[in-house]
Amino acid sequence: MRDNAVHTETEQQPGVKKVVIAGGGTAGWVAAAALSKRLQGLVQVVLVESEDIGTVGVGESTIPPVQLFHNLLGIDEQEFMRETDATFKLGISFENWGQLGDRYMHPFGTTGKGSFLADFQHYYLHGRALGVTAPLGDYCYELQAACAGKFGKSSNSMISYAYHLDAGRYARFLRRFSEAQGAVRIEGKIAQVQQHVNGDIRALVLENGEEVTGDLFIDCTGFRALLIEQTLHSGFERWDHWLPCNKAAVVQTAPGANLPPYTRAIAHDSGWQWRIPLQHRVGNGLVYASDYLSDAAASDRLLSNLEGAPLFEPRILSYQTGRRKQFWLKNCVALGLASGFIEPLESTSIYLFMNGVIRLLRLFPFNGVSQPLIDEYNQQSIGELEKIRDFIILHYHQTERSDSDFWNYCRTMPIPDSLAHRIELFRASAHAFQTGDEMFRLESWTHVMLGQRLTPHSYHQLVAGLPAQQLTAHLQQIRDTISHAVARLPQHSEFIRQYCQAPDYTRC
Ligand SMILES: Cc1cc2nc3c(=O)[nH]c(=O)nc-3n(C[C@H](O)[C@H](O)[C@H](O)COP(=O)(O)OP(=O)(O)OC[C@H]3O[C@@H](n4cnc5c(N)ncnc54)[C@H](O)[C@@H]3O)c2cc1C
Repeated sequence: MRDNAVHTETEQQPGVKKVVIAGGGTAGWVAAAALSKRLQGLVQVVLVESEDIGTVGVGESTIPPVQLFHNLLGIDEQEFMRETDATFKLGISFENWGQLGDRYMHPFGTTGKGSFLADFQHYYLHGRALGVTAPLGDYCYELQAACAGKFGKSSNSMISYAYHLDAGRYARFLRRFSEAQGAVRIEGKIAQVQQHVNGDIRALVLENGEEVTGDLFIDCTGFRALLIEQTLHSGFERWDHWLPCNKAAVVQTAPGANLPPYTRAIAHDSGWQWRIPLQHRVGNGLVYASDYLSDAAASDRLLSNLEGAPLFEPRILSYQTGRRKQFWLKNCVALGLASGFIEPLESTSIYLFMNGVIRLLRLFPFNGVSQPLIDEYNQQSIGELEKIRDFIILHYHQTERSDSDFWNYCRTMPIPDSLAHRIELFRASAHAFQTGDEMFRLESWTHVMLGQRLTPHSYHQLVAGLPAQQLTAHLQQIRDTISHAVARLPQHSEFIRQYCQAPDYTRC
């Protein structure tokens, strides 16, 4: 991009009639799909992207709200899954996190059945004290289905799930969808960003000289952040002291015989490795902190821990954890990697920009951009992001691992006060909570805290007063109901074959 903005005297439009999206990765096309569908006839949507630059090409594991986003757009699930080689995801299997050899699952859905006065973990802990040895996961339908490699859904089923999807195909799917709703795509490299005298963005100027003017600009240019940072200088709050992983070696492999309905996150001595099973291949990545592991060692380690044959040489991606100080600044809203990045561990990035674009629709500046709208958007977005950040730091910090400098750092590092409070509360009394704007439910916190070996000193005394027979019968009944329901489910691979098999489905 040519340096710095050109200032013009052009008057700004009072209302927003034209939105220009810079960048056509997953974030850009998610924004285009939502805005073109929901603002049809009210606002013109234009997207500029450059095939020469390309996209980050990862981001294949999601969380359940992606379904709500698709519903909002009227996207047909079977068509979407066929076209993106998607599979179902019921949670994440965390291996070697609390200690080498440990394994726990962070499932979607509900776990057990609590009461108005006490959440389920108190009943579970009292059951343990009474000698009921069944693990927490036995009280979660999604977790039991995941461990059995099963999946099924029907119009009256209550299973909570997300997807694994091919990021490139998903962007192309959303592009077709957006163009059908009237969004216009312009191919070209943005060479310059022009501003009005008040600092608002006026136009993107492409290398061929074409000017793309607009009233509201969405920065989806990935880590480059051409508009929000390079032009408007939002500023960046770094989180690497809490989230020290800053690189990933990534490679795809041929599919194996199994199609697990969950993501695997396997910790190693300087980070962790993901495995994401799609219909036609497996996505693999080794996330690491470059202070503790070299690129060459990371690639070697990734290649020696694959289950299938690699389809190409590993690629190294670099990132910086943290967030833009302002996501919405002047007439520019940053979505996706342009707005910041926590880290891939809990698959939250796609969710965050889907929710970001829904938030923008809710606060849409039909009558012009105003500071109260900007402030409200930023406050909501930052509040949501920081709670997710805390949840992810928990995975690194709450560990007994002491086998490497990386884990010694993570285990002993200072953490945000907000997270320290949650950990101490749970340790003292087994209380977990979730606030209104929070993505991860208290059950998620409970699974991860117990899974990472955080043992509460006590639990709710009202539960402790329950007669032993009554409690054990209650726990047994939950386990029985779940195991009967799981027994009736088909294998995940079988369900995919019947429901949404992609043309290049290659599993046996
Ligand atoms: C290692 C890693 C693993 C991840 N795993 C997950 C995951 O499992 N789940 C999840 O939800 N998220 C994950 N993410 C995040 C996810 O990949 C991104 O949030 C998602 O892909 C969106 O990226 P983006 O669209 O913001 O940026 P990009 O994909 O980088 O797209 C940027 C776009 O901007 C365009 N562009 C840039 N500069 C110019 C220019 N000058 N002119 C014209 N166009 C330009 C490019 O052409 C491209 O179209 C992961 C990220 C990383 C780094």
